[in-house]
Amino acid sequence: MERVFNFSAGPSVLPEPVLAKAAEQMMNFGSSGMSVMEMSHRSVAFKDIIDETKENCKKLLNIPDNYKVLFLQGGASLQFAMIPMNLMVKNKKVDFIDTGAWTTKAMKEAKLFGEVNVVASSKDKTFSYIPDFKNAQFSKDADYLHIVSNNTIYGTEYTDIPQVDIPIVADMSSNIMSKPINVADYGVIFAGAQKNIGPAGVTLVIIREDLVGNAPENVPTMLNYTTHVKANSMFNTPPTYGIYMAGLVFKHLLDLGGLKAMEQINKQKAELLYDYLDNSKLYSATVEKQFRSNMNVPFVTGDADVDAKFVSEAAKAGLVNLKGHRSVGGMRASIYNAMPLDGVKKLVEFMKQFEKENVK
Ligand SMILES: *Cc1c(COP(=O)(O)O)cnc(C)c1O
Repeated sequence: MERVFNFSAGPSVLPEPVLAKAAEQMMNFGSSGMSVMEMSHRSVAFKDIIDETKENCKKLLNIPDNYKVLFLQGGASLQFAMIPMNLMVKNKKVDFIDTGAWTTKAMKEAKLFGEVNVVASSKDKTFSYIPDFKNAQFSKDADYLHIVSNNTIYGTEYTDIPQVDIPIVADMSSNIMSKPINVADYGVIFAGAQKNIGPAGVTLVIIREDLVGNAPENVPTMLNYTTHVKANSMFNTPPTYGIYMAGLVFKHLLDLGGLKAMEQINKQKAELLYDYLDNSKLYSATVEKQFRSNMNVPFVTGDADVDAKFVSEAAKAGLVNLKGHRSVGGMRASIYNAMPLDGVKKLVEFMKQFEKENVK
């Protein structure tokens, strides 16, 4: 069977050269005589893997020296709790820009540790835009501001970020490594790996040094960033294979020219799809132009039966996982870093054909 074009929102497509490399090294990594999965995390071979993965991550994102890079478990969802446990310590107050499901879930956890203040929200229009934060009233005394840089479900993405004096905590699960960012603009960046970094099971956390070490004494060992900083992400057994795979992805991104190159490719893919949507008689994009994500592209026909037919016929044509999230309906094409331009071209070709056959 041939490989399909997989538009899944997560876990998602991985670069083929990475999968090929992993396959090549599966039975015998280097001269170890075993797979990476079978190795002790205390072995020299694994230490080299995690160190190189971290170095390449720093290189790609141009991470300043006063930031720590951690590979944790529990997904982005555990960070929703770990961040307030470690950072909501001074005034026990946090500002949020509410952009949908992933901020809602994070707010629920933050509320366990103090006051949550929503400074702006796009709830009134099913989160189809990024709210105007330039005129928002940020708290003077919040411990930090929490944002979601790319909203996977609704397909909205920030193009710039608020200018505030408090640390910005950003959930970048679905657009990390898709373009260059200025890490110094943030206090904490976190991302579940399964969208743009590798297989599920690893969570990347990039945290400014001064935000580590302030957790109250009743914070459990595994939930305290200090533990993982001191142990170089190896306090307990880390997700070794996931870290190795992330390392292969990072090398692959560097080979392609780094994040500037990725941004160009990602823009090209997204423009191809949005341009077609904007000129179509059948489909429409659900997000306002200026807030459209280059990673997740939701669209609808306006007729649930036609949507369902589209998803099923697309799958038969080798274009899979195009069903939209249940809260938005319609379709969603997730076109992360690893989705090739050819995949988007093939999708647009299919959409044109389907439009011809289905416009009354
Ligand atoms: C997928 C996703 C999450 C959830 O990640 P888990 O690793 O499943 O906990 C959180 N935030 C965003 C923006 C996501 O896209």
